[in-house]
Amino acid sequence: MVSGVRETLANLLAPRTCVGCGIEGSWCCVTCIEHIAWDPNTICAGCERLSPNGTTCERCRPDMVFRGAIVAATYDDPNVQQLIRFVKYAPAYDIAGAFVPLITHTVHSEAGRALREALGENARIIPVPLHPRRLRERGFNQASCIAHALAEQGFGAVREDVLRRTRFGAPQARKSRDARRQSMDGVFAASPDIAGATVLLVDDVITTGVTMSAAARTLRDAGATTIHAFAIARG
Ligand SMILES: [Zn+2]
Ligand SMILES: [Zn+2]
Repeated sequence: MVSGVRETLANLLAPRTCVGCGIEGSWCCVTCIEHIAWDPNTICAGCERLSPNGTTCERCRPDMVFRGAIVAATYDDPNVQQLIRFVKYAPAYDIAGAFVPLITHTVHSEAGRALREALGENARIIPVPLHPRRLRERGFNQASCIAHALAEQGFGAVREDVLRRTRFGAPQARKSRDARRQSMDGVFAASPDIAGATVLLVDDVITTGVTMSAAARTLRDAGATTIHAFAIARG
């Protein structure tokens, strides 16, 4: 009820318009949602070779650490790009709302159902954290909005106190894969609280997988047993 009132108020203050066609009422209307370039989640996030339900292949497992990664859509889709860009600079009242249709579609896909099963009953959902300085600039972490939306869909409990980003700055895209990986050493720190847990690691976009796997390695070193990954887009 309260959230309904808040939604109505928010719509009066700044009506939502579809990123695809501009129609009022939502950030992506039902027609445009139907035309999203959904990712079939049939590749390994490391080598991009075929792998069912986004499972990390044997060869990439030592490097990537996470068991598998699923994403909602391809980043090439202009509507998906718009939604992600929109959320980064969105008014704080509705950041998660923009991603909900993408998340809902994906959790009901075959890969989404397989992920839910693999996570079991007691998974911890951990958003890839921003550095505190970046968080202050932006006001919120878009990954944590996705984490909360996944918790609402019954994927586990959000833990934002486990993983911290201890270094400011991102790896440079021009660097080689090894150099990028090295530049992520020591970027994250994790609390031993996570020992023995199954984790769903969440970010907005998986590009090279380097950030996600650096976060996953940190969690594994802190004792997490099984780690899966979820993102809105691959690109
Ligand atoms: Zn539309
Ligand atoms: Zn692979």
